[in-house]
Amino acid sequence: MFSEINTRKLLPGLACLMLVTGCSNNNDSNNDGANANKTADDFLVDLAHPTKGIGARVAGTESERKAEAYLLAEIKSLGYTPSAQAFTYHESDTEFNSSNVFFEKAGTSPDKILVLGAHYDTTGEDHGSTGATDNGTGVAALLEVAKRVKDKTLPYTLRFVFFGAEEVGLYGSYNYVENLPVEDLGKIVGMVNYDTVAGGDYLYVHSADSVKPYDCNGDKSSYAAGDTVRKGMFDASIALDGDNDFLIHPSGGYQAGETGGWSDHVAFSCRGIPIAYVEATNFDIVGKDGKDGYSQTVNPQFWNCFDEATIGACDKDVEEKWGRIWHTGSDRIDAMESAFPGRVSSQMELAVKATVEFVSFADYYLP
Ligand SMILES: [Zn+2]
Repeated sequence: MFSEINTRKLLPGLACLMLVTGCSNNNDSNNDGANANKTADDFLVDLAHPTKGIGARVAGTESERKAEAYLLAEIKSLGYTPSAQAFTYHESDTEFNSSNVFFEKAGTSPDKILVLGAHYDTTGEDHGSTGATDNGTGVAALLEVAKRVKDKTLPYTLRFVFFGAEEVGLYGSYNYVENLPVEDLGKIVGMVNYDTVAGGDYLYVHSADSVKPYDCNGDKSSYAAGDTVRKGMFDASIALDGDNDFLIHPSGGYQAGETGGWSDHVAFSCRGIPIAYVEATNFDIVGKDGKDGYSQTVNPQFWNCFDEATIGACDKDVEEKWGRIWHTGSDRIDAMESAFPGRVSSQMELAVKATVEFVSFADYYLP
């Protein structure tokens, strides 16, 4: 969740590509803590727990590099071959280093690629956030998807990408797309973005804004806002048993089911690729700027004063908390578990199950 897109010109950094085979040459993967039996809950602890795991993973810092090394080790442990794509970006004349981590699961149609992406950096450390929901949940759930499809025969090739430096300006996803070979770009039939797939009151799937194309660094000529991937993911969630399907949010701050340019899906939409964006929040709430999905919960402890009648603040002028979880001191595993016992785990599981169903039968779910 990045909140300042369109306010600043993005500066694509120098990208270099290097193949990395993991942190250790030792075959005993337990040496680096990685093992193939972990669950999404375990991955989340490794990433976001302040003492048992890495904790905050701020872009351009040593903690983000720790998370990169962690991802390389876990991906290798799951039986895949990860690559790292280092890049630089600039903020206020200072150069920072970051990196994307990616790997592929080959499908029977090599000419059709689905990208599954999640950013692994965090923000709000100064407020106490360790990036549990934003976006520890997205990264943990995507690792779990990779684990579950490892031995499946899939119709389309999956490209898993963990983006660095999302919170400071979507640098990782823009660098990734801008450095893709043209022939690869032409094979990508869709992108699924996992950003905060647990924590908020409801789990939604969105498509890109069809009314106001994103800024696209000034070049909107290839912009795509199709809803095919969103529909595919939605249908996949319905095909599963249970009544916890993805929701399509009602119109309000955006057209129904569509979302703003605040995350890594933007770089793909700007290259003509239809996207689906899985996000836990609450679009019924009248937040600080209206029904824009930026208020994630009606739980009163996340408000100075919540008014049930208007589904918003008792007094807009004095409200400071606005039902927000991401980027706050509540975005920690312990705080989430105390406010919403079991929610984070069950929402990650729903996202994982629907995504595994979608990619297993992508030729059925996509037109
Ligand atoms: Zn995020």
